[in-house]
Amino acid sequence: MITRFAPSPTGPLHLGHAFSAILAHDLAQASEGRFLLRIEDIDHTRAKPEWEALIYEDLHWLGLTWEEPAIRQSDRTDAYMQALEDLWDRGLLYPCHCNRKDIQEAISAPQEGVIPVYGPDGIVYPGTCAVRLDRPGPKATLPSGVPLRLDMSAATANTTNLSFTETGASPARQSGIIPVSNQYLRAAVGDIVLSRKDFLGSYHLSVVLDDALQGVTDVIRGQDLFEATKIHVLLQNLLGLPTPIYHHHRLIRDESGKRLAKRDDARAIRQYRADGFSPKDIRAIVGLA
Ligand code: GLU
Repeated sequence: MITRFAPSPTGPLHLGHAFSAILAHDLAQASEGRFLLRIEDIDHTRAKPEWEALIYEDLHWLGLTWEEPAIRQSDRTDAYMQALEDLWDRGLLYPCHCNRKDIQEAISAPQEGVIPVYGPDGIVYPGTCAVRLDRPGPKATLPSGVPLRLDMSAATANTTNLSFTETGASPARQSGIIPVSNQYLRAAVGDIVLSRKDFLGSYHLSVVLDDALQGVTDVIRGQDLFEATKIHVLLQNLLGLPTPIYHHHRLIRDESGKRLAKRDDARAIRQYRADGFSPKDIRAIVGLA
């Protein structure tokens, strides 16, 4: 078994991250498997070296060990580029020139008659650029500095019976098969961005390529990414990559039931450390023995 923890260095780790990391670490350890760390710093506009340093510090303090060196997405742009070129050559990507405002306007224009749909990747793109007549054919070279969207209709034209295995929390780990229908991908996900204007690739693209590179067999992540996993299953299928087993764990919430976010500094691990809590206390707070 190979598990991983894949934080983005865009803020301090909080209790939710600790829970995820400990689960993945303990699960690998219990089965004499491997636990890996991946720094998801693909978005260099938000990632900061000081947050990355704090990730290592917090995880060490929690008593977790991982195989060194941890991989960093900022070192993987060649692989992302190759995958984008592959999808581009197959006619599955198109450049999109819409900004947020254009998209809002397109979906709220009464003559469009489109009801906005919110999926795992946010608002479903209304397809403005997809229908432009100047859309380049597969022979053109991959454009840079412009967002590239996946043509979801074309991407799902030949896929059937996509699914993934979801396991329960250990030790029971009963599993079930979660289907990923083309209908869902087209209607609720739509033409997602696979490469951004300011950086090559996207969370969805990099995460599937990196999990495959690292041979991850079991992805342990929060319930908030359950729907995003369906996008990952499609991308794995398109790129010929294996689909790991998934466990989407419960989310750690504050007293009012709100999911913790990076800005909740009060729940930051570094704050607990400064306040004299022990790693054992953290395990107890998140409900782990
Ligand atoms: N990097 C993502 C985050 O910090 C999680 C990645 C994943 O588990 O796929 O939310």
